[in-house]
Amino acid sequence: MAPVKVYKNLIDGEWVESSSGRTFENVNPANEKELVGIFQKSNQQDVDAAVAAAKGAYKTWRLVPPPKRGEILFRAARTLAERKEELATQMTREMGKILDETRGDVQEAIDMTFYMAGEGRRLFGQTTPSELRNKFCMSVRSPIGVCSLITPWNFPMAIPSWKVMPALVCGNTVVMKPATDTPLSMYNLVRILEDSGIPRGVVNYVTGGGGEVGERLMTHPDVRVVSFTGSTEVGRRVSEACSQTFKHSCLEMGGKNVIMVLEDANLDLAVDGALWGGFGTTGQRCTAASRVVVDKKVYKAFMDKFVERARSLKVGNGLEPTVQMGPLINEGQLKTVEEYVEIGKNEGAELLTGGKRLTGGEYDGGHFYAPTIFGDCDPKMRVAQEEIFGPVVSVIPCDGLDEAIEIGNGVIYGLSSSLYTRNVNNAFKAMRDMETGIFYVNAPTIGAETHLPFGGTKQTGNGHREASTAALDFYSEWKSVYVDYSDSLQRAQIDA
Ligand code: NAD
Repeated sequence: MAPVKVYKNLIDGEWVESSSGRTFENVNPANEKELVGIFQKSNQQDVDAAVAAAKGAYKTWRLVPPPKRGEILFRAARTLAERKEELATQMTREMGKILDETRGDVQEAIDMTFYMAGEGRRLFGQTTPSELRNKFCMSVRSPIGVCSLITPWNFPMAIPSWKVMPALVCGNTVVMKPATDTPLSMYNLVRILEDSGIPRGVVNYVTGGGGEVGERLMTHPDVRVVSFTGSTEVGRRVSEACSQTFKHSCLEMGGKNVIMVLEDANLDLAVDGALWGGFGTTGQRCTAASRVVVDKKVYKAFMDKFVERARSLKVGNGLEPTVQMGPLINEGQLKTVEEYVEIGKNEGAELLTGGKRLTGGEYDGGHFYAPTIFGDCDPKMRVAQEEIFGPVVSVIPCDGLDEAIEIGNGVIYGLSSSLYTRNVNNAFKAMRDMETGIFYVNAPTIGAETHLPFGGTKQTGNGHREASTAALDFYSEWKSVYVDYSDSLQRAQIDA
């Protein structure tokens, strides 16, 4: 067997070991015996060195013309595209989702990198007439400084790219921390940025636990911006920590997304959507449809097909071409799923399929769980309210559109929702009334595009959005500039 590679931190343009002298293992969730790599278990000292490097590099990076920053991103995007297959394969080994999905994850990073590279030639501000003669007014985007980027394991390259690309094109410098389950995909992204010509210190990469590395990244006095994607619980802590020194924080957190199926829906299409939305990425997408609300008039017809299709999904190692659903990320996540299935049964939800761990043969050493559907759920049940983050879908019967919307909105989260209907009036009513940051008609809750804002309402987010030009608003600050060429003191209208 080839020796397992030891990966290092990137600090000030050098690949270095952690000063802690400690490391951790990155294993394949389809088979824990397979070691993907060994990574640095970093500490506060490493973070401090990375932030100092980013602070130093900011002095010159902020002055690099944005189109030149964009050119580096274009090179990175092309390399990502050339190496897509290899990057996806490595991602499946560390994260578990099937190859088609890891290809999609890399594709998202490619799209975001090309998109933000193009923004280097835009970064538009406004010009506007002045209220006074011989005076010129404009607004320009200014970079902010050092950004801490903290990411989860479920989109290990896409989500880092959503953060680092807009941060860089706006002229900021960054320290990036991946989740400990998936540090390799962020490593690959950082390496490609480095090879594409990012100057030393502009991008720093520090691996390690949330408690040690993450905490320091959001409390360090020289960090001005924290972008976090992860659970609502940790997001709350990030928000509190950032408030102490008024760091800007962008929080993308949990979800309990809903697909609503009306009486007039194309049921086969809705079943396709519920399967893909509920069990895609083993239900471990922030936008996963873990609730399906179905009109009572078509409930039975829908459920017969949905349960049968879920039962026939092929679960296994995501590298196998015929596999449709991979493992859960780790044992802890699998235990959470087991606990919720018990909760659901005790609450009186009807277990229609799944509800068990898969073991033996090809499943040995992995974290596999059968696609699980609860029927006849009450909207107030915990399985219909709380984020499970696994292959468990709770189906709730309803009476028409108004009740579907009420149930759909009746959770603390607000990321994504969808409606299946052939009635344009219903579609527009739901579009207006759903309290989510993303809404789909006749498509599942997953599948965002990079040039549209991404994010959620209520306890999913704190009002910012990722992707699109909305991301530029987070990674830059507006500066309003007034140029008086009258050669005389002109007082603004309020002082005149
Ligand atoms: P998590 O909150 O456990 O961890 C996210 C990141 O925060 C990791 O890098 C982790 O190491 C770090 N972290 C943990 N504790 C920390 C602390 N005290 N201080 C600073 N950083 C800390 O989440 P996870 O399990 O990696 O990801 C799953 C969650 O992410 C789900 O709730 C999911 O809905 C959410 N998510 C949301 C979106 C979105 O865009 N809304 C996208 C993907 C995932």
